[in-house]
Amino acid sequence: MSKWKKTGSAFFLSVLEGISFAQQRFPKPEFETGYVQPSPETPAPRALFLEYLDVGVLFLVLLLASWLIYRKRSRRGILWLSVFSLAYFGFYREGCICAVGSVQNVALSLFRPEYAISLTALAFFLIPLVFTLFHGRTFCAAACPLGAIQDLLVAKPVALAPWVRKPLGLIPHLYLGLAVLFAATGTEFIICRYDPFVGFFRLDARFVMVILGIGFLVLGLFVARPYCRFLCPYGVLLSWMSRFSKRSLSITPAECIDCKLCAKSCPFDAIEKPTNRQAADVKESNAKRFLVYGLLLPVFVAGGCFLGGRAHVFLSKAHPDVRLAELLISQPEVRNDPDNIDVQAFLASGKTMETLIAGALVVRQEFYYGSLILGAFMGLVAGLMLLNQLAFREHTDYEPNKADCFSCGRCMDYCPVGKEVGKTREVGKNPGGWKNPGGLGKPGRCGKPPGFDEYLI
Ligand code: SF4
Ligand code: SF4
Repeated sequence: MSKWKKTGSAFFLSVLEGISFAQQRFPKPEFETGYVQPSPETPAPRALFLEYLDVGVLFLVLLLASWLIYRKRSRRGILWLSVFSLAYFGFYREGCICAVGSVQNVALSLFRPEYAISLTALAFFLIPLVFTLFHGRTFCAAACPLGAIQDLLVAKPVALAPWVRKPLGLIPHLYLGLAVLFAATGTEFIICRYDPFVGFFRLDARFVMVILGIGFLVLGLFVARPYCRFLCPYGVLLSWMSRFSKRSLSITPAECIDCKLCAKSCPFDAIEKPTNRQAADVKESNAKRFLVYGLLLPVFVAGGCFLGGRAHVFLSKAHPDVRLAELLISQPEVRNDPDNIDVQAFLASGKTMETLIAGALVVRQEFYYGSLILGAFMGLVAGLMLLNQLAFREHTDYEPNKADCFSCGRCMDYCPVGKEVGKTREVGKNPGGWKNPGGLGKPGRCGKPPGFDEYLI
C-alpha cells in the first residue's frame, strides 16, 4: 500500500471513529437512585435536506389546495389533502415543525439577537401567510394538521350566535399577544407547550394535555374547529392576510340563483347573507354610534395599556428566573430542599443571589413594556371589533366572510349551480327550468340537501 493510501485510510478511520464517538461524547450520568433518563419533549433535529423537504411538501400542499379550491372546486379533494397533511405534518413529523408555533420563533429572533431562527421555521411562518394573501386561507383548509384533526371530527355543528362568537374572537388575539410576549422575553413557547393535539401526534402527552385534547375534539363534534376559531394565534395573522387576499373562495361557480341552500352549510358560521336595503338603513342609522366608538378608540387603547401595566408583575412570574428569585427571597429555607431541582441547579451553578435578582429585574422590566404594548393591542382590537359590527358591507349574494372562511369547500358542495343542475343544463343559466326552492329545511349531512331532486322540474 502506498504511503498516501495508508495516510488516507488512517484519516478515514479516525473520522469514522470521531463520528461514532460524537453520538454520545459524554456518557449519560449514572445514578444509583434508579434515575430514569427523561425522553426529550421535542422531536430530534432532522437532517437539513429533510427540513427542506418539509418546506417543499408544505409548498406543494398549498399549491394543490389552491388548485383544488379554485380550479376543481372539490371538497373531496380538499378533504383528502387535509388527511395527508394530518398524516405527514401531524403524525409523521409529530407536529414539529408547525406554522402555528413558528410565530414564537419569529418573535424570539426579533427580540433576542443571540437567537438565530432557522430558515425552515421562517419558511413555515411566511409561506402560508403569503399564500393567504393571494388565495385565502388555503393553509387552514388543507395544510394545517391542527385544523385537519378538528375538521375530520365535525359531526353535528351548532350555529353560534354572534354575541357568543364575537367576544370569543378576542381570545386568539390575546393568545397571540401573550405568545409573542413570552417568546420575546425568553420565558416559554406557550403555543407549543399548550398545543392540545401535539400530544396525540407524538403519543406522549401529559395527562392534563390528553384531557384538554380530548375535550377539544369532543367539543369540536358540536362547535366546529373550536381551537381554530377561538384560540389559534396564527389564525389571527391568517385572517388579517385573508381580508386582503387577491382571490377568495366563492360559493357558486356562476350566478347565484338565491336558492339559499348554502345558507346553513358552513359549520363555522362564516357565510354572510345578502344585505338588503332595510339592513342598510339600520346600519346607516348607526352612524352616530360609529362616530362614538371611533372617538372611544383611544380610550380603549389607554385602558388596555393601563390593564397591561397592572398585569406585568403577574405575567413575569412565568419566567423561570423571576419565579426562582421570588421563591428564594420569600422562602430561603428551600435552599435546603434537595428535591427542588431548580434551586439545587442554581446553587450548583455558583451564581450569586445578586446576579439572579438583577436578571429577574431586567426580565420584569421587559414584561412591563411588553404588557403595556399587549394591553394597547387588545384595546385596539376590541375597539376595532366594535366598529366592525357597525360597518355596512353591501353584497347581493351569499358570500364567505374572507377573514373567517377556512376554505374548506363544504359550501361549494351545497351549491346546486354547476353540479346537479349542471347535469341537465348549462352552468349558471336558468332557462326557465329551475324553481327557486327558497328556504328549504336543513341541508343533509352528506352535502346534498334532502329531497333535492323534487325541486327540479
Ligand atoms: S386556524 Fe390555526 S390551527 Fe386552525 S387550521 Fe388555521 S392555522 Fe391551523
Ligand atoms: S368554504 Fe364555505 S363552508 Fe368552508 S369555511 Fe368557507 S364559507 Fe364555511
